[in-house]
Amino acid sequence: MHGLDKSDLKAANERVVLNLVRSEPGISRNEIARRSELSPAAITGIVGRLMDAGLVHEERTESQGKLGRRPTALYLNPQSRLAAGVEITTAGATAALAGLDGHITVQAEIAFDEDPHRFLTAIHQCVLSLTSTAPAPVLGIGVSVPGNMDPETGRVIASTNLHWRDVDAIDLIRPGIKQPVFWENNSNLSALAERWFRPANLAPLDDFVFVTLKVGLGTGLIVNGALARGARAHGGEFGHSVLYPEGYRCQCGNRGCWEEYSSDRALLREYGSSDRTIDSQGIARLALEGDPRARAAIESVAESLGLGLVNVLMALNPAAIALDDFAVTAWPIIEPVLWRVLRDRVPAYWLTGLEVFPSMQTPLKGAIASVLSRYFNGSLGSVLLP
Ligand SMILES: [Zn+2]
Repeated sequence: MHGLDKSDLKAANERVVLNLVRSEPGISRNEIARRSELSPAAITGIVGRLMDAGLVHEERTESQGKLGRRPTALYLNPQSRLAAGVEITTAGATAALAGLDGHITVQAEIAFDEDPHRFLTAIHQCVLSLTSTAPAPVLGIGVSVPGNMDPETGRVIASTNLHWRDVDAIDLIRPGIKQPVFWENNSNLSALAERWFRPANLAPLDDFVFVTLKVGLGTGLIVNGALARGARAHGGEFGHSVLYPEGYRCQCGNRGCWEEYSSDRALLREYGSSDRTIDSQGIARLALEGDPRARAAIESVAESLGLGLVNVLMALNPAAIALDDFAVTAWPIIEPVLWRVLRDRVPAYWLTGLEVFPSMQTPLKGAIASVLSRYFNGSLGSVLLP
């Protein structure tokens, strides 16, 4: 127990018990004692403190326990503490409050503004109003940004899609806000959401890649159970790895980036849509209904998606890959094309056990997960507070 004083130990044990109640709703005190190796007396004290803090409640079970006593089942009170999340996109921003189970109870939309100062000021007003009128203590605020940023300072170094460069976003969001604010790239947050909200009965996603396909192509990388951001937090930009050196010009200025062949932008180009009358989801739905032009566009994009995934697989050897947006809608068409490309180009033993699946997770849920994961792992301090 070197370096851990008595109050740290107490807080650590409270956290262990709360995590067990979170992951196994209805767990009994006896089962907690068995799993945590804490004494029954210690469990009684800890559960009492968690109940006093409003975090946990108990219910009598129907089953008959030893000595005729019916054991009590413990449950989390999901609305006793809240997490705030903000997702910034090129279409506007969404702010939300969610309980300890991640379920969103309040959501507000903020209109897009081309001026980052005005846009962030409007977001700040919305967050201030949400957090100050929240019905329970708010633990923190997670913010999703589509771009490269410094998660320590909150400075957005560059966002190609938002056309932001060197925006001191945190200075505009923080005034009057008591809670800690955590900034993160949108693809990283989708990866975090998929990992954090994964059902407890499935194997954890410790080596995992999330591919976001909306407005460009981004990747969130989980390596050894943690987000891999690289030395300066700009890692995971597989979207700008080169697929065709003489290919189409990308928004980043280079030629032939993976993103230019596999994102929603690529799908619109392949479909031949010169106006904005249809979006990538519309093309995906048309393809499913049997429209040959839409189907050919989806298949072409899926082929390039597969080629890019070959590079990702060879670099990271993940256990699973998730894809969002139009890949979810058009999955019946995309899945066989992806697997054909992967089987053609990747040695079979790399593919053993590999899971590739469509995901409905969003950066907003990830922003909430970025707060909840810090709360439950103790980096926000005692679980009894605030
Ligand atoms: Zn590029």
